[in-house]
Amino acid sequence: MFNVSLERLKSRLDFLSTLTDPDLPFTRRAFTARYLEGRNWLEREFQKAGLGTQTDAGGNLIGRLEGKSPKALVLGSHTDTVRSGGRFDGILGVLSALETVQTLLENGVKPNHSLEVVDFLSEEPSDYGGLSCVGSRTWAGTLSGPMLALENADGETLEQAMKRMGADLKRVRSGPLRRPEELVAYLELHIEQGPTLEHAGIPIGVVTGIAGIERWKLSVLGQADHAGTTPMNLRKDALVGAARVVLELNTLAGMTPNIVATIGKLELSPGAANVVPERVDLLTDTRSIDSAALERFNTNFLERSKVLLESAGLGFSFERVSQSTPTVCNARVLSATRAGATRRGYKWLELPSGAGHDGAHLSSLCPVGMIFVPSIGGRSHTPEELTLEGDILAGTEVLLETLLELDRVMV
Ligand SMILES: [Zn+2]
Repeated sequence: MFNVSLERLKSRLDFLSTLTDPDLPFTRRAFTARYLEGRNWLEREFQKAGLGTQTDAGGNLIGRLEGKSPKALVLGSHTDTVRSGGRFDGILGVLSALETVQTLLENGVKPNHSLEVVDFLSEEPSDYGGLSCVGSRTWAGTLSGPMLALENADGETLEQAMKRMGADLKRVRSGPLRRPEELVAYLELHIEQGPTLEHAGIPIGVVTGIAGIERWKLSVLGQADHAGTTPMNLRKDALVGAARVVLELNTLAGMTPNIVATIGKLELSPGAANVVPERVDLLTDTRSIDSAALERFNTNFLERSKVLLESAGLGFSFERVSQSTPTVCNARVLSATRAGATRRGYKWLELPSGAGHDGAHLSSLCPVGMIFVPSIGGRSHTPEELTLEGDILAGTEVLLETLLELDRVMV
């Protein structure tokens, strides 16, 4: 078995995580000077490790090791962060991938397939309309004209920002940057960003899929009346109705396997202390890796909410505002990951990813899989984000074993 260098990986994690916006901790927003500085450093690290480097037409930084076949097994993640992010989100995936490929090189392994370590451009919600996964969308050919026209607060378009990152927009507009025939599989190590692994005391999460997300806008319609003169039994209080809807969603999701549901946004009008609320607009966020279950859940929830509100004399309207389909991770990648964890003596647990990742966009091109390592307290996107050294080592070793297995069995 090959030994990865935890020391080397840790020193790279320390360097890149602290290459940050001077005013905010652990912040490297995509398209900024700091972000480019990090990528320039990363490119030199790729080269020092012996990888060929390239920034592709989508602005993705790629380190590549040629194998017996040009068809590539792709490892990767991202080096951009949210504002006041953490030390590990994204960069752990890129740097553990580099460590893995460097270890194979140092041990004289000539892989069957070419290996690529990719820093995908702008995975986190960007300053351009909040669009995420910009780089992986260019691979899949789903970065549309309206997306490219999104602007940041200074009026720069995403297209202009991508050009600054070295992207070739003519090529991006002309279709997918990669073809399925060029790719064997995509594999990403990432922090869990939730508490499941830590609670279970298990270091390795074998990711079964990336959740699809449905968002619905619900409006509860009552009547604005004087808070002092309207008797309690004659009110049509939209907020009281909305509160019932919130509880209904929470209770229903608690009873339904493989679903999480949240109402994180609520607008109340007229919003005055002395007026009975007339209208409440709520935004639901429901997630699952099972699209049929997600649809059933939302149909059921909306039906029950309607009945609840009608019986309270309130009006109700709803519309779906967004929908993304779940990604099912590839069975062969899952089995290679389970086998890899077992070979290294680590316990593993299968779990879905409730957060979005580049793999969701790459799944139209090739089999995808992800490996999670525990996030202490389930925290992420915050300076408190923490993954323990032992778990970083475990994740990297399992990444290496999975890569070797996929290189062996995939064609
Ligand atoms: Zn991430």
